[in-house]
Amino acid sequence: MPLGEEMTLHSFRSARSAHIIIGLAAALAIGLASPAIAQQSPAGTALARVLVLGTGGTIAGQANARAGNAYDSGKVSAANLIAAIPGIDRLAQISADQISSIGSQDMNDKVWFDLVKRIRTAIDNKEVDGIVITHGTDTMEETAFFLQNVLDTDMPVVLVGSMRPSTAIGADGPANLYEAMRVASAPESRGRGVLVVLNDTIHAARWVQKTNTTSVETFRSPGAGPVGYVDTGSLRFLQPAALVKAAQLKLPDAPPLPRVDIIYSHANMDAAEVEDAVKRGAKGIVLAGVGDGNSSKGAIDALAAAAKQGVVVVRSTRVGSGYVNRNVEVEDDKLGFAVSLDLNPQKARVLLELLIANGVTESSAVQQAFAR
Ligand code: ASP
Repeated sequence: MPLGEEMTLHSFRSARSAHIIIGLAAALAIGLASPAIAQQSPAGTALARVLVLGTGGTIAGQANARAGNAYDSGKVSAANLIAAIPGIDRLAQISADQISSIGSQDMNDKVWFDLVKRIRTAIDNKEVDGIVITHGTDTMEETAFFLQNVLDTDMPVVLVGSMRPSTAIGADGPANLYEAMRVASAPESRGRGVLVVLNDTIHAARWVQKTNTTSVETFRSPGAGPVGYVDTGSLRFLQPAALVKAAQLKLPDAPPLPRVDIIYSHANMDAAEVEDAVKRGAKGIVLAGVGDGNSSKGAIDALAAAAKQGVVVVRSTRVGSGYVNRNVEVEDDKLGFAVSLDLNPQKARVLLELLIANGVTESSAVQQAFAR
């Protein structure tokens, strides 16, 4: 069955029946008459139950006729992606739900809330032992960090994507998805928070960052490094699972989260962007500052005025690695700012949205939450 052809595999609530359906789909995809449906590992132990939640992205992308390398994100369902990977059903009993079918440049609060709802249901019903989320790479780090802050579970939650669409020569999606399944189904992945798997490498949500527009080796964790490595035959974590849990922040009953804007600092900058954000109704502003989170006098003065009016201001950096420390070049204590420490602007924005939604707006309380 061609990858782009939609099968009627949408919502599987029962891990076992979904596994059977995916086993059959896999057989169809690779041309077998009757699939071998593995309920046990080669060692004779029961296979872990893993729920795959599809959101879209290049991993589900399909070539289009616009140009040689053109494609559309999010065209292939998660169930069909799994069905095309020979042997993946020997790693886990797999079920799949489609949460959205979008390029992650369009990722939004609604999809985030739907993901959390579905994952919490799976946890509460003890349906599964692990979760894999297929996702575009552009905003994967933001979704991973969002989930890290709101999910209260030891269960492996693993985001996976690809840099090449499913129809490309040398598509990286199948190997990435196979490896994500290996991570999500492994007991040693428990208690490690939300993870990202791409290109044989495992990263933690707090540090992972997309660093290259096209390379399959795009994800890195500046300042921390990956937490482990995985390939089709092995899985290795570099450290024991950490005992410290992420701050568990409550989600409001429904989206949207409070508005937080990112202002990108640059040479010859005035106050206009900051003032515009305040006029638009931003409840928080993250500065993607130059260097150690700095900006022009005009922009810093405008940020100080915004903070005085109750807008929560967090200084981060556009540099891509390193800490933003308090009171070095900018007088944070005096101006009422918090700093993002090791969080890049896009992750600082996610945390600030959640903090404001939880009523945490006073700058020292915000600062404490960033330090966790
Ligand atoms: N634009 C795509 C997305 O984030 C890129 C990718 O998945 O690699 O959905």
